[in-house]
Order: sequence, then C-alpha cells, then structure tokens
Amino acid sequence: MKLIIFGPPGAGKGTQAEFIKEKYNVEHISTGNVLREAVKNETEVGLLAKSYMDKGELVPDEVVIEIINQKISSLGDKGFMLDGFPRTIKQAEALDKVLDKQDLNLDTVVLLEVDDEEVVKRIMKRQKIEGRDDDSEDVVRNRLKVYRDQTSPLRSYYSEKGLLEVVEGVGDITDISKRIDNILEQYA
Ligand code: AMP
Repeated sequence: MKLIIFGPPGAGKGTQAEFIKEKYNVEHISTGNVLREAVKNETEVGLLAKSYMDKGELVPDEVVIEIINQKISSLGDKGFMLDGFPRTIKQAEALDKVLDKQDLNLDTVVLLEVDDEEVVKRIMKRQKIEGRDDDSEDVVRNRLKVYRDQTSPLRSYYSEKGLLEVVEGVGDITDISKRIDNILEQYA
C-alpha cells in the first residue's frame, strides 16, 4: 500500500500514522521527524532547516524533495506512508516524478480535516507534554497560515487525480482510526 496522509498541524497525523503503520506494515516516512533528527544531530540539513522550522515556515522544497527521493528509492516495492510530505504543489509534482521513474502508483491520499481553533487548542496541550519549539501559539498560527496558503491546494491536486479521501479528524481517536481503516482496507 502506498499512501499520503495530510492535514493541518495538530490534525492527529502522527497518531493515526502509528495506527496505520502497525496495521498495514508500511514504512512511515515523516519529513518532520527526519528534519527534527537532523536538527538534533546538527547536520548540514539540520542547521539549514532549523531557522525555518522555528518560525513555522516551510523548509525549501529542494531540501525535502531530496530527502524523499532518497527514502523512496531505497524502499524497492515495500509499501509506504508519507506523513508531512508533500506540502506544496512543487513537492507533489516532484513526488509524481520519482514514483513514475520507479513505476509506482499512490493508492490513496487521506486528508484529516480539523478546524483552526481545535488545532490551536490541541497543539497548546501537546506543547505542555512534548515541548516542541514550534508549538508556541504564534508559531502555530503561522503554521496554519502556511498550511492554508501552500498546502491546502493539494486538496484539489489529488481530488483531480481521483485519489482524495477526506476524513473528519475530530472525535474519539479510535473512531477516527476506524474511518481511515474503512478506506484503507480496500487497498490491503
Ligand atoms: P511536522 O512535524 O510535519 O509538523 O513538520 C514540522 C516542520 O518541519 C514544519 O513546520 C516545517 O518547518 C518542516 N517540514 C516538515 N515537512 C516539510 C515539508 N514537506 N516541506 C517543508 N517543510 C517541512
């Protein structure tokens, strides 16, 4: 199975990604996790990414596209789930290219929908638990703006390809997992 999970920050992508990974045995590829690891290890990519991440801005397309190209090329035909990538139309087009080159197709794109106020509330709670630098209220508001401006156009991009599935991301976590599961079962 090859899928994308996307949605605004705080939509619960990480939580649902864990569930999908366990159930469907797919490789979980999170550009946010890769970048946080790079920041921690102070690699060249990490040093460059940090200033963008701290402000809630997107890291330049070329940097994340390179990360994804390397990951996908190393997987062979193992299933994967992209979480936090693509975040721009340019990234989506680059993904199409790398998949084409390897004769791979996406099965589906799951959009987890949650409104802005709920997102801010959830992230404020998460910051108390995880202490992420980019979870402060003003940075979250900027991440939401960036999502609206740069990432939400992916909705029509994947809808036009007939791949988009919209899932209501509010409610009980297990109920949300069930909604996702109902969609994914057909591709297992
Ligand atoms: P996330 O954990 O997915 O919320 O990502 C945290 C931060 O990492 C984002 O706010 C961006 O600064 C950066 N980031 C993660 N994925 C991408 C991407 N696909 N394109 C650009 N920046 C990204």
